[in-house]
Amino acid sequence: MSKYIFVTGGVVSSVGKGITVASIGTILKSRQISVTAQKLDPYLNVDPGTMSPYQHGEVFVTQDGAETDLDLGNYERFIDVNLTTESSVTSGQIYSEVIAKERRGDFLGGTIQVVPHVTTEIKDRFKRLAEKSKADVVIIEVGGTVGDIEGLPFLEAARQMRNEVGRDNVLYVHVTLLPYLNSTKELKTKPTQHSVNELRRIGIQPDIIACRSDYPISEEIRNKISLFCDVERKAVIPLTTVSTIYEVPLVLEAEGLGELVVNKLKLKPRPPDLSQWRELVSLIKTPRQPVKIALVGKYVELEDAYFSVREALQHAILHHGRDLELIWVSSETLENSGDDSVLRTVQGIIVPGGFGIRGIEGMVRAATYARENKIPYLGLCLGMHVMVIEFGRYALGSKEANSTEFDAKTRYPVIDFLPDQKGQKIKGGTMRLGNYPCKLTSGSRADRAYGQSLIYERHRHRYEFNNEYRQRLEKAGLVLSGLSPDGRLVEVCEVADHPWMLASQFHPEFTSRPGHPNPLFRDFIGAAKNILREGAQPPLPLPSNL
Ligand code: GLN
Repeated sequence: MSKYIFVTGGVVSSVGKGITVASIGTILKSRQISVTAQKLDPYLNVDPGTMSPYQHGEVFVTQDGAETDLDLGNYERFIDVNLTTESSVTSGQIYSEVIAKERRGDFLGGTIQVVPHVTTEIKDRFKRLAEKSKADVVIIEVGGTVGDIEGLPFLEAARQMRNEVGRDNVLYVHVTLLPYLNSTKELKTKPTQHSVNELRRIGIQPDIIACRSDYPISEEIRNKISLFCDVERKAVIPLTTVSTIYEVPLVLEAEGLGELVVNKLKLKPRPPDLSQWRELVSLIKTPRQPVKIALVGKYVELEDAYFSVREALQHAILHHGRDLELIWVSSETLENSGDDSVLRTVQGIIVPGGFGIRGIEGMVRAATYARENKIPYLGLCLGMHVMVIEFGRYALGSKEANSTEFDAKTRYPVIDFLPDQKGQKIKGGTMRLGNYPCKLTSGSRADRAYGQSLIYERHRHRYEFNNEYRQRLEKAGLVLSGLSPDGRLVEVCEVADHPWMLASQFHPEFTSRPGHPNPLFRDFIGAAKNILREGAQPPLPLPSNL
């Protein structure tokens, strides 16, 4: 039977619960304990797929096509598992399920209430994931901050679990923030005490408190939290801010969290093997020569909108023993100013996914720049549409080539809805989502990158390469290097007469892991690091007798 760890957050949001969950997973896995993770999101959307990235950051897509919170990406990268739709639970899903059951008559005669009907539905989701994954430990992150109205049913369900599955099988971890007061130069514990009180009011006494802080946490502070919040002194875990998120498992392990969890949950004690993580972190901390990459997108003010892209770039950069110098270029600014001088010093250009017309012409401009100046280019989903539009304009000799997403009446719809998609009106969950197979064209860059002819990658889009333009674009030098096995859909394409200009209809960023960079990201950086831009020449070695 699986055991459960519930991770709640106190004091403020964005306190690092997701990374804490992922890191607890890492340290348990390093003891050969199998783990999986689940995120509970208190909002009423069924999934974040319909939300703007400004509201919620990136939408992470699982292999089975669930549109989920970006924390799931961190769980996958840290625990190195492929999660499924059961790992993402929202209030919207819970309520629509309970109401659908009521309409079907499943509760005939009863009054449907938050307790027990909604909480039972929530607990069913915990158990469903446990059964399906057969993991030794299911780590569940309760989204939001303790004290929010929306989060109450989730916390109540978490509380009920301890009685239901037994005291040794459930653990509560509370992650809080210790604010620093500059005037008195001290960390304050009062907000933590209050949020623990709030948890207790609901009936949850945390077993472990992880304290985030930008400053070192003294023994005195640990003792104080232990006393006021009624947790063992060793269960007050300091989580001082570190320079890379990949260091968090090492910090937690050094503070004894692994042993604590194993003892409290009566798991089999085994020594942890975190050697790969140590190597990874020491590599990240070693000074390396930078590779300068421009990310040209619409949501660049909010870096979380491209969370997995940035992580995948990091994995690829580390593989090449280099450092990432990422510049965020607003496609809208590029479009409005018409000035592409920011691209003059970069060694690679990446155009990630996105929706809507805003900034598209800026992205096309970046693609023109990459093609004409032979700068490596990687296009992800929308980035492929942009590359095809740009190449279409060049090959067809008309500025009108476009996607019908941006110009419904274009004379050259190089990107379009497939004929069988045209009636689709509903927006939520109706995209082409999750893993689909792709056959790579032998000898192409994509084929060389993956080293195998059939691959599976994750999708999230509506529009496709328009097959009517295949021949004309191929003739002008576009290589269709990946197709769906039935040959109907273009999955990857690349520019023949170019050092490395490639784009995929899928999102390769979702399958990249530290230590195993996605092959397209790896080869993109491999090509970019060889590009020498003005001002980037390494200093000449001076003879010693000068
Ligand atoms: N807007 C495009 C489509 O719907 C691309 C989507 C994306 O980049 N994820 O097809």
